[in-house]
Amino acid sequence: MTPPQQTTSTPPGRAARSARGVQRKRGEGQWALGYREPLNPNERSKKDDNPLNVRARIESIYAQGGFDSIDPGDLRGRFRWWGLYTQRKPGIDGGRTAVLKPEELDDEYFMLRVRVDGGLLTTAQLRAIGEISQMYARDTADLTDRQNIQLHWVRIEDVPAIWAKLEAVGLSTTEACGDCPRVVLGSPVAGIAEDEIIDATPAIEEITRRFIGDPTLSNLPRKFKTAISGSPRQDVVHETNCVSFVGVEHPEHGPGFDLWVGGGLSTNPKLAVRLGTWVPLAEVPEVWHGVAQIFRDYGYRRLRHRARLKFLVADWGAERFREVLEQEYLGRRLLDGPAPQPPTTTRDHIGVHRQRDGAHYVGFAATAGRVSGSTLVAVAKAAERVGSGRVRTTVQQNLLVLDVPDAELDSLQSELAGLGLYSNPSPWRQGVMACTGLEFCKLAIVETKARAIALVEELDRRLADVQEGVVDPVTVNLNGCPNACARTQVADIGLKGQIVVDADGAQVEGFQVHLGGGLGLDSGFGRKLRGHKVTSAELPDYVERLVRRYLAGRTDGERFAQ
Ligand code: SF4
Repeated sequence: MTPPQQTTSTPPGRAARSARGVQRKRGEGQWALGYREPLNPNERSKKDDNPLNVRARIESIYAQGGFDSIDPGDLRGRFRWWGLYTQRKPGIDGGRTAVLKPEELDDEYFMLRVRVDGGLLTTAQLRAIGEISQMYARDTADLTDRQNIQLHWVRIEDVPAIWAKLEAVGLSTTEACGDCPRVVLGSPVAGIAEDEIIDATPAIEEITRRFIGDPTLSNLPRKFKTAISGSPRQDVVHETNCVSFVGVEHPEHGPGFDLWVGGGLSTNPKLAVRLGTWVPLAEVPEVWHGVAQIFRDYGYRRLRHRARLKFLVADWGAERFREVLEQEYLGRRLLDGPAPQPPTTTRDHIGVHRQRDGAHYVGFAATAGRVSGSTLVAVAKAAERVGSGRVRTTVQQNLLVLDVPDAELDSLQSELAGLGLYSNPSPWRQGVMACTGLEFCKLAIVETKARAIALVEELDRRLADVQEGVVDPVTVNLNGCPNACARTQVADIGLKGQIVVDADGAQVEGFQVHLGGGLGLDSGFGRKLRGHKVTSAELPDYVERLVRRYLAGRTDGERFAQ
């Protein structure tokens, strides 16, 4: 492909409209208000060279020269725009994360994130990712809670060959990380569910085709997260995304989307707000583009920790955000629209479900998203054996096989159970999620994936006697640091990794507990009780106690989250 050119031009006409109540005394680094300098190191790096240009250097220089030939500015900055992060050097414990310099934490291997927009995969694509993992990534693979698939242990020398194999089946790593439009989340049952309000797939495809890799959107203040779902289950965690389109039926105009902006978790969590508009399917890409441009032009760039869209939305409010979108970017009014009703069912798709064409889709829990390249190849093969060519990833780190005929349901479920993928899991296996954690992440303080898997095994053993009594999934989300990549604050039991003191006074890995968070009917952040911490070793005891206490004290119909 032709590498994109650098673009640093001022958005036309914005500076002139700068007054309007925005505090000018101390600029937030908003381009549209003329605040171009001074630049923090991230902004400087993006200004010096459009990060998308780094692909050409990877192909022509770094893949030949090896790890030591990589410019540090590319390594720890621009590589992300192509889905590449250096891994954490093995053997460095979490207590040293904050005291070491970035280069001391860098391993010479990479995490490679493959974007899976809408969670849509053919079995040929799934097999390709699996085979790449077997060949170049020591057979590693994780399903992420943003529907992507991540590989580890990737060498820079192999990246061009990996890109060639991915692109041969229509996949890419373009803007999988970095300050740009990340993967577009989509309902895993788009186009097949019996209860679907509207199929958002055409909008997701158009956004990715037109705008991913677009150099005019490749220098945003920070990451830009999108979710679009026409499912009444609202299955893309729209409340935690920068921009979301949520399926809704307009009384006069029919099915379309309700627009939300400004969600995001991490250390300053905020739930997205509705703008009160109704957007028809055909206009979703244009409206999405308007929101992305507002972020580019008005987003805060001065301080990295205030650079997400949620801070601008919190300062402006929904009314002003809508006004700027309509007047400055769309040049027209949007229609007012109704609010979608929160779903009354669980949002995931685990188990067997009938499609509108009479076939079935089956949702499988992949414990904490941990699979392998070999597992992905085997899933592709199993799906094809039963006549399916389509799989989907979910925002709960799970996957679905679509188009399964009646006669093949049992055999598919038992075959995938043999791979560690369960269609009828326990409530804790169904609900558990874990971020990358200490194994590979340079920001991590504690281990997460292996901890989550061990926790679920232990709970399955200890709570077998009461499992039937817990109807909904119990969401236990393990995060390796305060960044909340596994959505700490909106879990029944959210666990934020930190070093804690155990009963003997020793400093050990553990978690700050957030209790009772949720989305949908019970939207809200979990309560963080001061001193409410648990060591990693105590985790099974702690969760077991919580579940038994809930079962002993619940009233009729009360769900675990309540
Ligand atoms: Fe890494 Fe922290 Fe995100 Fe986990 S939550 S993946 S440790 S940055």
